[in-house]
Amino acid sequence: MKNSNTFKKVISHAKEYGFVFQSSEIYDGLSAVYDYGQNGVELKNNIKKYWWDSMVKLNDNIVGIDSAIFMHPTVWKASGHVGAFNDPLIDNKDSKKRYRADVLIEEHREKILVKINKDVAKAQKRFGDSFDKEQFLTTNGRIIARQKKIDKISERYQKALDNGNLHELKQIIIDYGISCPVSGSKNWTDVRQFNLMFDTRLGSLSEDADVIYLRPETAQGIFVNYLNVQKTGRMRLPFGIAQIGKAFRNEIVARQFIFRMREFEQMEMQFFISPGEEDKWFEFWKEKRIKWHLALGFGNDNYRFHDHEKLAHYASAASDIEFNFPIGFKELEGIHSRGDFDLTQHIKFSGKKIQYFDHKINKSYTPYVIETSIGLDRMFLSVLSMAYTEENIGKNNEKRVVLKIPPALAPIKVAVLPLLKKDGLPETAKKIFNEIKFDFNCQYEEKDSIGRRYRRQDAIGTPFCITIDHQTKIDNTVTLRYRDSMKQERLKINEVQRTISEKVLMKNLLN
Ligand code: ATP
Repeated sequence: MKNSNTFKKVISHAKEYGFVFQSSEIYDGLSAVYDYGQNGVELKNNIKKYWWDSMVKLNDNIVGIDSAIFMHPTVWKASGHVGAFNDPLIDNKDSKKRYRADVLIEEHREKILVKINKDVAKAQKRFGDSFDKEQFLTTNGRIIARQKKIDKISERYQKALDNGNLHELKQIIIDYGISCPVSGSKNWTDVRQFNLMFDTRLGSLSEDADVIYLRPETAQGIFVNYLNVQKTGRMRLPFGIAQIGKAFRNEIVARQFIFRMREFEQMEMQFFISPGEEDKWFEFWKEKRIKWHLALGFGNDNYRFHDHEKLAHYASAASDIEFNFPIGFKELEGIHSRGDFDLTQHIKFSGKKIQYFDHKINKSYTPYVIETSIGLDRMFLSVLSMAYTEENIGKNNEKRVVLKIPPALAPIKVAVLPLLKKDGLPETAKKIFNEIKFDFNCQYEEKDSIGRRYRRQDAIGTPFCITIDHQTKIDNTVTLRYRDSMKQERLKINEVQRTISEKVLMKNLLN
């Protein structure tokens, strides 16, 4: 169901209903930069809260910070970003489109895997219960050939990445006949390295001023504050520091809506541990993070772990949580075992003693780090694309588009709707609205038929509607209408606040 057609629909729905707009749209937009609208900002804030609560509120050994976007330029030398934060880019000479060479190869490999999976699904259907997947995979000639191809690509690809061999990356693209998705041609330039950091100048006289960078990740703000937080918070290992904030990358491929942006937000947590405990904590955080995703109820099949073939310059182990976006399985979150790389680099470049005194063994050492790093905008996209549902309802083939966003994340929790704009119904409705608006985001609407108002609320993912009708005046009850089932029930006015509160609690996801 979820495919590129769905992706287009999600993008236009996001615009039409005030979730995401192209930045500077009246000037024809700015590539790979987006603004969040009136509903988008609410959804985004709720996702932030879901993450922040799960990290900072529920763990007494994790605290938060909010560090500045601008940092001392030496930070990025120490972190390795000045020297090594590059992507290998390649241009198609016919379409003039620019691609990441590594992404082209990975996508080609994924396409072969998709073909294998399709064959397996077909065979499974044909043979039914007697189907033996393992046997099929190891004996079917076509599958064996495809798997061999994947293995060969992986072997060459990994070697090329390990050796920084740009020539070989291009050769793989040529040898496997990978073509430009736009022009269809195989007319490629050489592969070149491209640094992803934006730079600017500090100070009023740009000629004399130092070059500084817009941070490409929030993590370094945590590392340089490690001592501040550890000392002032009297933190004992293991402990974590969490941060949500903007990051900037001059991405080469920027054609995938909010999946890959040049200005985006990250939610990162660095967990400081004693050396030697990294395997245990790496597994711990992998499990904890996948649980956080699964609690949203979008289905286990839509997530998978992907262990890195090539480790970043800082990592000793790394695993991504990939999500089944409408554009395929792609990275949503990274979990990295960073060893003592970052703190050691900052010790070297700053000359400061950044260590931990362990009272248990009476010794100082540099802690190791496990990092969890998730893109807020990618998380937003995962929620939006999973929530987007088209349904046939009623006998007349009537359609509705409904965003089945988990209630705790929904931008508006309840819409208060008088059935008619007369007979004192608006007054009663406004009274209810004015009472419950302190507890959660509500919307009051009286324009158009009740059916059209329900549709509008469905389209922005409002989980509950309260309708005030003539019976309300008789017995002080209202109709509670559920977004997903469209079921309706009567509810006493004095029970509205408590009933809705219980259903939209963040606790329902965090438990
Ligand atoms: P990719 O391989 O997709 O470029 P990455 O491995 O460079 O991602 P990390 O450096 O691990 O990404 O960043 C952590 C998280 O930040 C990613 O899992 C992703 O969710 C998010 N992220 C990274 N780059 C972008 C971007 N350009 N736009 C939106 N989110 C991003």
